[in-house]
Amino acid sequence: MQAAPQAIKALDYPALADRIVALGLERWRTDQIVDWVYRKHAADFEAMTNLSAAQRAALAAAFHLTPVREAAHQISARDGTRKFLLQQTDGQSVETVLMPMDGHHTVCVSSQVGCRFACKFCLTARRGLVRQLAPDEIVQQVLHARRYAGDAGLNIVFMGMGEPLDNLDAVAQAVRVLSSPQLATIGARRITVSTTGIPERIAALADLDLRVRLAVSLNASDDAERRRLMPVSGRHTLAETLGAAADFARRTRHHVTLEYVLLHGVNDRAEDAVRLRALGPPAAPFKLNLIPFNPDPRLRYERPDAASVEAFRARLDGSFRSVTVRWSMGLDIDAACGQLFGDRAASPAA
Ligand code: SAH
Repeated sequence: MQAAPQAIKALDYPALADRIVALGLERWRTDQIVDWVYRKHAADFEAMTNLSAAQRAALAAAFHLTPVREAAHQISARDGTRKFLLQQTDGQSVETVLMPMDGHHTVCVSSQVGCRFACKFCLTARRGLVRQLAPDEIVQQVLHARRYAGDAGLNIVFMGMGEPLDNLDAVAQAVRVLSSPQLATIGARRITVSTTGIPERIAALADLDLRVRLAVSLNASDDAERRRLMPVSGRHTLAETLGAAADFARRTRHHVTLEYVLLHGVNDRAEDAVRLRALGPPAAPFKLNLIPFNPDPRLRYERPDAASVEAFRARLDGSFRSVTVRWSMGLDIDAACGQLFGDRAASPAA
């Protein structure tokens, strides 16, 4: 019996080359095929015109190209951010966001359909975990978005739907493919994995030695408040999360970014800033990124105004390696942090 076609975009380069040889093609054909898959965005194997008809048929029987459908594509009138609703072959959809930055683009990818962690300020959480994404479904999001990014460099952030460290095997394999110099050629240092901060999962990521950057969603300055906002953090303490993050920084010799969603009247008060300061002595390997809450009628928090964001930031002067404010892009098309839901009702076609 013929085996089911395998996802070609889930294979690292040596595995791909071995499979191609096993199919009876010369090993050097691998680079031709890679060129079609990763640079020419071939939609099917028939398009690969430098291969014979028999070779194309053999490939089509052995592999699939992760045929994802673009169910919606919105473009922000404010900042050019694009949001793609990508429907997978089983009908489930995820959202992917492409943001034009100064001199490069950043693509924000999803790691799961939904999420199991129930953060109170995040829309994705409302869906619960529907299913994990496979490595090729993660890779395909980047390839899809990259078509609109031109030749400028591309950064990848795992800050879309889902918790990447709750799907670590698939995320790690996607990172290997994306960062492979023979395949998608996006340097691992340009890839940031953002996590709710489960200490042993951060350690597991460090063990894989993928050379990716780490961002940890802190979102509160003490354990009680953090547990209210992020129920998953009930299983560990803030100190343990920061300890794992510091260890990751030490092992990768690079700072870790701490993200802090600013919720008006909840975690942006003067006493929050005082406690937060204490977590980030300048000697610690942390940069702090403040993210003013991105609202949605389904979420009951409020976004602080620019003046109170600035006041909060100013209270942190001199703590952490740096303190920056990230005013999310794509707000007008619900493409900002925490606004991804991944269904058509929430994302009407532009
Ligand atoms: N699960 C991962 C990645 C997805 S969330 C994580 O927790 O890091 C990516 C970032 O968006 C996180 O820092 C999260 O705290 C933030 N975020 C979630 N909802 C938000 C909202 N409504 N407004 C602003 N930021 C939000």
